[in-house]
Amino acid sequence: MRLTELPEAVEGCEECLKTGDPWLHLRICLECGQVGCCDSSPNRHASRHAAQAGHPLIRSLEPGEVWSFCFVDDVGMELPQVRGETRIPPSPLAG
Ligand SMILES: [Zn+2]
Ligand SMILES: [Zn+2]
Repeated sequence: MRLTELPEAVEGCEECLKTGDPWLHLRICLECGQVGCCDSSPNRHASRHAAQAGHPLIRSLEPGEVWSFCFVDDVGMELPQVRGETRIPPSPLAG
């Protein structure tokens, strides 16, 4: 796990922004910092990135959510060593 300081702000799911697709919730890869979308989003980029890159640990970037999740162990956890809070735009699918 390399990412311990969350970015100050992100624009959205990196892959969805490239293709113009909407996302629901944002997750960040704790290995390389790639921002992806959750499994309730049409493209599920966070779990796809975890599988393709072999980076199983993510953290939620949603406001007020501090949980992390490991796709390999299929278990949620809190990692107090990950600090900071990221400003994110509202979901294109929410509301
Ligand atoms: Zn996405
Ligand atoms: Zn990664």
